[in-house]
Amino acid sequence: MGVWQSFFLLALLVGASAFVPPRPTALSGGRLFRQNAGRLVSSPLESKPTDLEEELQQEIDLKNTKLSKAEELKEIKDAEGSDQSIEELLRVRPFVPFLLEKAVENFDDLFVKKRQKASVDELRDLHSRLHGLKDKHLVSVKTLGEAKAGDGKRIGLTSNEQIRSAQMKGETVTGKKRIVLLGSGWGSHSFLSYIDATKYDVTVVSPRNFFLFTPMLAGAALGTVEFGSITEPIRNVNPRVDYLEATCLGVDPETQTATFESVVCEGTSCVIEEFVLSYDMLVVAVGAQTATYGIPGVAEHCYFFKQVEHAAAVRKAIGNCFEKANLPGLSEEQRRNLLTFVIVGAGPTGVELTGELRDFVEKEGPRYYPHLLKYVDIKVVEATDKVLPPFEASLQRRALAELTERRSPLADMGLLESERPCLTSVLLQSGVKRVTDSTVTLSDGSELPYGVIVWAAGNGPLPLVADMIEGVDRQKELKEKGVSRGRIVTDPWLRVQGVKNLFAFGDCAVMETAPLPQTAQVASQQGAFLARLLNKNFDLDASVPKRIGPKVFLSEKLPFGVDSRDLAKPFQFLNLGILAYLGGGSALAQIQVDQRQLRQEGAAGWVLWRGVYFTKQVSLRNRLLVALDWLKTSLFGRDITRF
Ligand SMILES: Cc1cc2nc3c(=O)[nH]c(=O)nc-3n(C[C@H](O)[C@H](O)[C@H](O)COP(=O)(O)OP(=O)(O)OC[C@H]3O[C@@H](n4cnc5c(N)ncnc54)[C@H](O)[C@@H]3O)c2cc1C
Repeated sequence: MGVWQSFFLLALLVGASAFVPPRPTALSGGRLFRQNAGRLVSSPLESKPTDLEEELQQEIDLKNTKLSKAEELKEIKDAEGSDQSIEELLRVRPFVPFLLEKAVENFDDLFVKKRQKASVDELRDLHSRLHGLKDKHLVSVKTLGEAKAGDGKRIGLTSNEQIRSAQMKGETVTGKKRIVLLGSGWGSHSFLSYIDATKYDVTVVSPRNFFLFTPMLAGAALGTVEFGSITEPIRNVNPRVDYLEATCLGVDPETQTATFESVVCEGTSCVIEEFVLSYDMLVVAVGAQTATYGIPGVAEHCYFFKQVEHAAAVRKAIGNCFEKANLPGLSEEQRRNLLTFVIVGAGPTGVELTGELRDFVEKEGPRYYPHLLKYVDIKVVEATDKVLPPFEASLQRRALAELTERRSPLADMGLLESERPCLTSVLLQSGVKRVTDSTVTLSDGSELPYGVIVWAAGNGPLPLVADMIEGVDRQKELKEKGVSRGRIVTDPWLRVQGVKNLFAFGDCAVMETAPLPQTAQVASQQGAFLARLLNKNFDLDASVPKRIGPKVFLSEKLPFGVDSRDLAKPFQFLNLGILAYLGGGSALAQIQVDQRQLRQEGAAGWVLWRGVYFTKQVSLRNRLLVALDWLKTSLFGRDITRF
């Protein structure tokens, strides 16, 4: 074919493509998003549209505005060539069949676990192969030089630069698709527990080489349990998976590469390396960071409460305050200020920390600091008019009474001032305006002196997440519409909207169709959902994931299995309820069974709370250690050692 014929054919094809309805690319919130949706694509040679084109464009625009939801759904159905109703697929499944689906999935998980079982020798082989693979997928690595810990500078960009060929992207050694998973928290732990690592090459990258059981962080901060008992090495979760200790700095969806930074510190000196990895699928489960809402002094003076190191710092700071207050030569006022503990935020984290702190003071105080207890004051500061917003009103009232009215046993022992028999108080509708190194100013202008202030008042996006939102047009659009609120927006199959081969879940993401709270429960159910979806043979590029291979699992073969039909069902959250410890052997439990809510409080709530946290530990090792810690604490008291 000559050059002119080719050119003519190309022009015809480009022209024709303007009239071919574009293939749907994503379904979200019942809306269809198309590439070039409704825009007339003109020939690249013609810069100005003709009258005919303008007329056609108007017609298309009109058609688009008229397109009803039902028509959109029908279009997807036609495009998918399936009889299955999309509406039915997206509808919330009734409780009993949904539970049945979940039960069947457990058999699938056993099957995947069995398939992944390997002897020590096999695992050794696998890891040496994965090590080779790691280098294969490495696009570039740079040693950025050495820096002093804490100086916040990167120096020496070229000291040991080793750039590999970018053509290595996408090459595989094993022929399997490569999944790069970001994060080692709740979502990632669950994803790793269920993903079939015989089907994919999986690499986890996270700055933290362990999983943290966050619901017991408050207990760990006050020595009820030890830090090591509520953490689990991420490498233990799935021995077939490779782990790299690094932080993701950015993602380039076009080249399907991600840039990472590894910081290894010894003493006060750190070596910083930057490397780029390619991926076939990137799974983002990086969580969120503490939001300070730009309030002056919060970042500088408040203790945050998300990570183990935060809890360790809080433990140390509380101990410091008691030891400082114990020194001779201090005035009454100085002692009182040092032993005033302010907790900002009356959500579950703030309330549980308050309960644990009160337990610590009541149980260990009479032994170690009886003469100081009359100065202790624990204040919860909350901007709204409620405590524990996720709980039902009667349980909120119970929590408030527990924190404001409960007479401390220390009062009966004569260790508190008679006019203040309750160790804790709650200041509602009190926003924080400013924090200095010794005082916090509230919205009514009052100033509270404090010894330790802990900030447990909300989540905000990590810089990586904020950059990803800004870097993708569709995400930016959803942000402007107020959908994302600092989270990456996904469709109901957890695919990031506007980008291919990218998935996100947990605290860093939100489904446009059904926004869910930022909890461990949601993150871990989503991690399991995505892993199970990837284990099956679905085309994830289709607007609704469609079966393209044989049915392998029971959940596909049995008629009541989640994926027994040709289109994958979307994620549906199973709300198991919420728990909160209030201190003094009292807890709240709000358990959801379909539309019914079971509520327990006081000692019965506490038994439930302990039972659930014990069984929810992610390994037998954690379960044993936590049980031993509880026993040790009840026999010998909390550990107040500080390093
Ligand atoms: C003190 C406390 C108590 C809580 N109690 C409860 C509770 O009782 N019940 C409940 O349901 N929820 C609770 N939560 C909330 C729950 O912990 C979160 O919702 C959950 O951790 C979210 O899981 P995730 O996987 O999205 O993120 P996370 O568990 O936060 O994990 C994020 C991971 O990503 C890593 N990471 C961060 N940045 C990067 C990066 N740039 N590159 C690579 N990796 C990165 C982090 O190191 C971490 O490993 C609590 C939270 C806290 C802080």
